[in-house]
Amino acid sequence: MRTMSGADYTTTHDSPPGSERFLISDLCNQLESYLSPEQVQEVYRAYLVGSEAHVGQIRQSGEPYIYHPIEVAAILAEMQMDHQGIIAAILHDVIEDTEIAKEQIATDFGEEVAELVDGVSKLTLIQFETKAHAQAENFRKMMLAMARDIRVILIKLADRLHNMRTLGSLRPEKRRRIARETLEIYVPIATRLGLNNVRLELEDLGFAAKYPMRYRILTESVKRARGNRREILDKIETAIRDRLEQESFTFQLSSREKHVYSIYKKMIEKELSFNEVMDLYAFRVVVDDVDTCYRALGVMHNLYKPVPGKFKDYIAIPKANGYQSLHTILFGPFGVPIEVQIRSTDMDRVAEAGIAAHWQYKTGERPSTNAQVRAREWLQGLLEMQKSAGDSLEFLENVKIDLFPDEVYVFTPKGEIMEMPRGATVVDFAYAVHSDVGNSCVAARIDRRLVPLRTELYNGQTVEIITAPGAHPNPAWLNFVFTGKARANIRGYLKNLQREEAVSLGRRLLNKVLVELQSGIDELAESELDAHLQEMGFVELDDLLAEIGLGNRMAQLVARRLAPEGENGDQTQPNDAGQQRTLSIMGTEGMVVNFAKCCHPIPGDPIVGFVSSGRGFVIHVSGCRNVADYKDHPEKAIDVRWADEVEGDFLVEIRVDVTNQRGVLATVAATISEMGSNIDNVTVEERDGHTSAITFLLAVHDRRHLAAIMRRVRGVESVLRIHRTR
Ligand code: MN
Repeated sequence: MRTMSGADYTTTHDSPPGSERFLISDLCNQLESYLSPEQVQEVYRAYLVGSEAHVGQIRQSGEPYIYHPIEVAAILAEMQMDHQGIIAAILHDVIEDTEIAKEQIATDFGEEVAELVDGVSKLTLIQFETKAHAQAENFRKMMLAMARDIRVILIKLADRLHNMRTLGSLRPEKRRRIARETLEIYVPIATRLGLNNVRLELEDLGFAAKYPMRYRILTESVKRARGNRREILDKIETAIRDRLEQESFTFQLSSREKHVYSIYKKMIEKELSFNEVMDLYAFRVVVDDVDTCYRALGVMHNLYKPVPGKFKDYIAIPKANGYQSLHTILFGPFGVPIEVQIRSTDMDRVAEAGIAAHWQYKTGERPSTNAQVRAREWLQGLLEMQKSAGDSLEFLENVKIDLFPDEVYVFTPKGEIMEMPRGATVVDFAYAVHSDVGNSCVAARIDRRLVPLRTELYNGQTVEIITAPGAHPNPAWLNFVFTGKARANIRGYLKNLQREEAVSLGRRLLNKVLVELQSGIDELAESELDAHLQEMGFVELDDLLAEIGLGNRMAQLVARRLAPEGENGDQTQPNDAGQQRTLSIMGTEGMVVNFAKCCHPIPGDPIVGFVSSGRGFVIHVSGCRNVADYKDHPEKAIDVRWADEVEGDFLVEIRVDVTNQRGVLATVAATISEMGSNIDNVTVEERDGHTSAITFLLAVHDRRHLAAIMRRVRGVESVLRIHRTR
């Protein structure tokens, strides 16, 4: 076996000799300039694992696969990425393309590296190709949101950069798609992170692949123009240099070549001809500190007259990605416009490397904290800079996602992106799609798997809502929905429903009393009824009925008012209408009739009802101890009885004492559900070492159903006692 010491890094497998050996050793040498020998050893170990895993895999170009991750790592090494980021870069494709799982990476290289590789793999899985052009912005946000660690984004960008460099071997169609994706998704991300060098290269490569013809023509034109411009350029450069030296400045001066894509963009956006765009001569002056920047600006404005209104002070008001510089445009000799950028050395580093500048060139010291921590510091610094500059525009719109991860991005089955607040559930999503979808949703699939409606959403999921005609919102959803829209819709629906139910109950209650008074709602004279309604402040009869149904008005008092005078007999006298006098509970009243939780009345129990203002009625079992509380308010009581045919299931509580034996809870629960009853809740309370009390809240049709269940449960071995609790 090979030794692994010093800079003696060799390749592992029998690939064509030459370049690969060069690559990995070159990478390690580069890393040694800023990483410790132990860290470089780790990287090399990652290379051994990676090349082993990718062995036999060939890139489209015909090269062994491992070339690619090494190149990606090399791009990051130029940014002085920390050793974990470099290791993750070398392993970035192994989860996706080889047998190696995340757990194994965690064992071999630690949890952090495993998370990074996993993060890159997840981003790779998102497919942009089928999505609409206009959604690029959302994809960018989603990528930033999904990558909790900014290093994941940097690895992904380096991955894309190398793929763009080696695009040549792909089919033209695929090449164009990747190019479009690069320009729409990756370039703006690089821009936001201030990775200017990466951005410029991605732009030119993307442009060349997307519009090969235009790229070729423009490149040739630039070459030709460069020849023509040389003379003027040299003249101006000399003039600037001489003047700055005269004033004893220490500076670096460079003339800037515009990149082909920048020229193209400017031609399109500003509707300029090639010559008009090329007509600008651009220079950059880099000096030591901020003060000197402004002094140099003065010198420039003294050398050539500035074009009014073209000066921009990005030092005082930095761009959202932290870019700082002074920009001015001058009238040059022969009337040519000259653009001059003036900035300090620090600003220049940020201008080129952005986020990476923050951990680069720390004078002499090795990076002690990792890249992610430093990236966060950088973002924090940007925030403060923006605040002090008082510029709320474009305020780190996308980068801030990393700092304030309060949004999630999910797909509809058609591939549209929905932006939801973090914490949103499936039901919130359904309402976000459309309130009709929310109102009729019954189930959902996330990434094709059925999930409960209360399931919280995470970035990148595809959510499909299953609706059913006639389905309606459940009040219980209010316990978990997150968005105002969902909440308002559910409340609105329930309110409507409650009103309908209240009107119908109010009608029955009022009619019951009117019948006692030898009348009925339908027998009231319309004109008189209207007059009464107006007097009481109601627009229509339903408003009054709803108030009665909700328990806000007493049916007796209203009836006495409405009933034709003279016809009412002695109210205390028994009436032949018999059953009509009591209100029958049918189980279909909905929200305006509530069953007390203290005694859980079920059909067959003797019951009493009480008015509960605003909420309708509460039904108790006659003997319930809470009924006594109403003793002083007899006017609130109403006669109720169960209807002959009651619909639905009613909750009831039973307690089962059992001896502690393995599986006893399961056996009892199974017995209950075999009897066609749903268990709503179970609590187990151990009494002593030997026995426990299990309390079941279950749904039954009526007393007979309950009796049958209790009989069966009593027969279960190890059940000692069973009784209904009140
Ligand atoms: Mn890759």
